[in-house]
Formats: sequence, structure tokens, C-alpha cells
Amino acid sequence: MNRRTRRAMTREIGADAQEKMANQVAQLGKLPEKCSACTQPFDKKDRQMLDSWKVIVRQEVVRLFCPHCIDKTKEALDNGNN
Ligand SMILES: [Zn+2]
Repeated sequence: MNRRTRRAMTREIGADAQEKMANQVAQLGKLPEKCSACTQPFDKKDRQMLDSWKVIVRQEVVRLFCPHCIDKTKEALDNGNN
């Protein structure tokens, strides 16, 4: 297997896993319809959104973050550590 093939596979598996999780959450009726931080609307039928948004499930609580807020959360965490 060459490097290019492996990278393509990894990306596909990652996207599938994310989509699978989003679908599972959606089936439970718990997937938020907007970003948990900035309330930007989320369309779960939009494949690009599924790839770039982050679903965080912790026990019963489902949180959804848009790419912008993922960055902001990282910054906040970095600041908190320093
Ligand atoms: Zn957001």
C-alpha cells in the first residue's frame, strides 16, 4: 500500500465514523440543530458540515460545535492552561 492510498483510506474512515456517530445521535433525536456555542444552524444532511463539525457526546449530553467554535474552544483551553 502506498502512502497516498493509506491517507485516502484514513480520511474516509474518519468521515464515516463521524457520520455514523452523527446518524446514531440523530436517530436518538438528541442531535442539536445548531452550534452549542454560537447557535449557528447545523444541517445534518450537509456532508461538508458532517465532516467539519464536531459532535461531542458525554453521557446523556450531546454538544455540537461548528469549525469556528472548535478553534475558539482550543484557544480558550490553551489560555486556561497558561
Ligand atoms: Zn459555533
